Amino acid sequence: SIPLLAVDGGGTKCLAVFTDRQGKIEGTGRGGSCNYQTTGKEAAVDELVRAMKIAKEELGESPDETLRVECAVFGMAGLDTGYDRQIIEGLVREALSRAEIRADRVVVENDGLAALLGATDGKPGVLLIAGTGSIVYGVNGQGRSARAGGWGYRVGDEGSAYWIGKQALTAILQTLDGRQGPTSLARRVLPYLDLRSEEELYNWVYSADYRVDTVAELSLLVSDSAREGDASSLRILEAAADELFYGGRAVIEKLGMTDTSFTLILQGGVLQNNEFVRSRLTKKLREFAPSCNLEEIKKEPIYGVIAQGLSLLP
Ligand code: BGC
Repeated sequence: SIPLLAVDGGGTKCLAVFTDRQGKIEGTGRGGSCNYQTTGKEAAVDELVRAMKIAKEELGESPDETLRVECAVFGMAGLDTGYDRQIIEGLVREALSRAEIRADRVVVENDGLAALLGATDGKPGVLLIAGTGSIVYGVNGQGRSARAGGWGYRVGDEGSAYWIGKQALTAILQTLDGRQGPTSLARRVLPYLDLRSEEELYNWVYSADYRVDTVAELSLLVSDSAREGDASSLRILEAAADELFYGGRAVIEKLGMTDTSFTLILQGGVLQNNEFVRSRLTKKLREFAPSCNLEEIKKEPIYGVIAQGLSLLP
């Protein structure tokens, strides 16, 4: 049998890996988004199965033969309530069975919490994720955890790639209205979506082609425009950094960690690729909680999930 299966189920992609007892990766597979709140349950299961089957093949195992693992840990975007837990545990069970994997122990957590628990090793820490979605999780020295944000694309995820992309769409329409000054965003966004006019953009938003991960991709165009000094893009990115800071501040306050030292971990595409957002956010966090030790983890969240899995092995 294989010691560990770790899955990072993010808003845009899911990554499944098998590891040995030391956490060395021996098989990797990728699939699309498995946040059931955005993709629906069926697609979420399909993508999990795809990732796990590819990883199994890379291990040298036949995809149709049952593989036993000692522990399987899933960090899943979209696990925000007790109801989500019930649904997602069911989806994970179905996916494991379709991928012909039998796990002695299955642990399912929110993606942020799983990454945080693995990365801090029982010590106080705060993890900010700003990928397709966003969330802040913290854990203090007494093992108490708290969260802020992460309420999905419809009503939350402030500062995430989706949120930035959505602000860009709004900015383009506000410029059309004359409610704000010119922006170079339309010049980038329209061709990216293969559209010819603001009106076509508007119709795309309410069409079946509208996709959360496509809107999230637009965040990269906002970064490009901001680098060229586009005022509207700079405002959006400033607001994104501020929103992420408010989430971080809420968690630090809830856990009473303003004056204690803790590790602060930043993850997700927005924080890894966007220097502007990252530096504005870290400056504000350092001012608010001067004793935090900022660890800009370059490692993917999957390593946090693996670390958590290793700590659970018998
Ligand atoms: C989801 C959360 C997730 C966060 C980060 C949000 O869209 O609702 O469950 O933790 O994204 O991936």
